[in-house]
This record gives sequence, C-alpha cells and structure tokens, in this order.
Amino acid sequence: MIQITLSWFVFLDLALFLAGVLILWLGYELIRKRRANLIARDRVFCRICNSRYTDTSASDLLHCPVCGSLNERSTDA
Ligand SMILES: [Zn+2]
Repeated sequence: MIQITLSWFVFLDLALFLAGVLILWLGYELIRKRRANLIARDRVFCRICNSRYTDTSASDLLHCPVCGSLNERSTDA
C-alpha cells in the first residue's frame, strides 16, 4: 500500500479537481467559439448597398436581398 501524508493527499485532491475544471472550461470554450464562428459565418455584409443580412446556405456567392448583387462570404470571422 502506498503511504501518503495528509498534505500530499490534499494537494493531489486539489490538483485533480483543478485539472478537471480546466478541462471542462477548455471544452466549453471550444464549443462556444465554434458556435460563434457558425453564427458569424451566416452574417453577410453587402458592399454595394451597405446592408447586412443572414444567409444559411452553403454556397460562398450570395445574392443580396436588397440590391441583388453577388456578395462573397467573408471567411475572416
Ligand atoms: Zn446589396
């Protein structure tokens, strides 16, 4: 059997708890960023008439509903 002192037991318990919290935090942050990127991808800005609209289609060339010009989906967001 492994002999461990109380101070090491408290240290290991606290370290494992904090590692679990860190892993959960990083996981939720990755999910949140992925959702934010999907939402930002749907927002399109028309450079001809300065209107903003949302389009959930998969194509990269989108027709503006106001002026009808073709807009390219921005990939920097
Ligand atoms: Zn437009």
